[in-house]
Amino acid sequence: MVHAIRIHSYGGPEELKWDSIELPAPGPGELLLRHLAVGINYIDTYHRTGQYPVPDMPAVIGMEGCGEVIAVGEGVSEFKTGDRVAYANPIGSYAEERLIPAERVVKVPDGISSEQAAAMMLQGMTVRYLLNVTYKVGPETTLLFHAAAGGVGLIACQWAKHLGATIIGTVGSEEKAELAKKNGCTHTINYRTENFAERVRELTDGKGVDVVYDSIGQDTYPASLDCLRPLGLWVSFGAASGPVKAFDIGILSKKGSLYATRPTLFTYTAKREDLLASANDLFDLVSRGIVNIAVNQTYPLREAAQAHRDLEARKTTGSTILIP
Ligand code: NDP
Repeated sequence: MVHAIRIHSYGGPEELKWDSIELPAPGPGELLLRHLAVGINYIDTYHRTGQYPVPDMPAVIGMEGCGEVIAVGEGVSEFKTGDRVAYANPIGSYAEERLIPAERVVKVPDGISSEQAAAMMLQGMTVRYLLNVTYKVGPETTLLFHAAAGGVGLIACQWAKHLGATIIGTVGSEEKAELAKKNGCTHTINYRTENFAERVRELTDGKGVDVVYDSIGQDTYPASLDCLRPLGLWVSFGAASGPVKAFDIGILSKKGSLYATRPTLFTYTAKREDLLASANDLFDLVSRGIVNIAVNQTYPLREAAQAHRDLEARKTTGSTILIP
């Protein structure tokens, strides 16, 4: 028997229960992992509330972790007992141990700690596709990144700075503004006290930005569209304030023939070769000290509910992990 945090029905953080579960031996193509650290992501709250349905109830939620391989299923040749691996999919990480398809994990290089690995796989690989694939960010790019002091946000500031971009970041407090600036953000806007679309126009001499990365959803729509230059790209990749409601596509033409996309990491890393390329790029930047992973909150696994409360109350900065 091992312990896991499971939901038995959708709802608030109180639905996260400390349960005992039994795991079978790994099946063909699977690994059994003993977690060393587990990552917390905003998507975990969508699974908890049912905004994103879980496959079965009761469900062990959580997408991300770093662990040691303790048993190997038939047909797996790439991994052996004792290997330290990390992953950002599939669901089921809030547990002392778990089964996982071997093709979804990657080996963690020696210079990267288990805490860092658990904190960065999902957020870091997300930043990698947002800045390199969804829109190719470079020295000529001016971008707007919402929630710039969050888990994805702090990694994005550092990575976009490395690519030479001008970064405008929105934040919910003055402390968060300082933190975002320390991590490479060129300008910050406190969107609780300032009209961010007006500020973006001022900061860009009326031109607008090339791309808006919007993970806030309801509260920043449609103002995010007003920040874009003609033919600019709106990347709606999250819904921390609730999902954007159905909208008339004509709004994209009225606001300057804009482009819109609603991407997810799981498409960008669906093929094993893409997962390996993404993880390698991330490990490389972290190992070289270009991107620092700020593990700013650590909780015992058993206290996952408190971690969710703090994340949803906008009390956290950078990344959050759980320790089994
Ligand atoms: P964060 O650490 O960024 O936490 C969310 C932040 O959003 C808060 O700290 C807060 O920052 C801001 N926020 C603004 N409005 C609200 C609100 N009403 N309620 C709560 N928070 C709010 O989380 P993550 O780094 O884990 O994820 C960031 C976003 O990216 C999420 O929306 C997530 O779903 C999305 N995401 C999408 C992926 C994809 O592939 N599509 C992959 C990974 C993440 P502040 O106080 O500064 O406003």
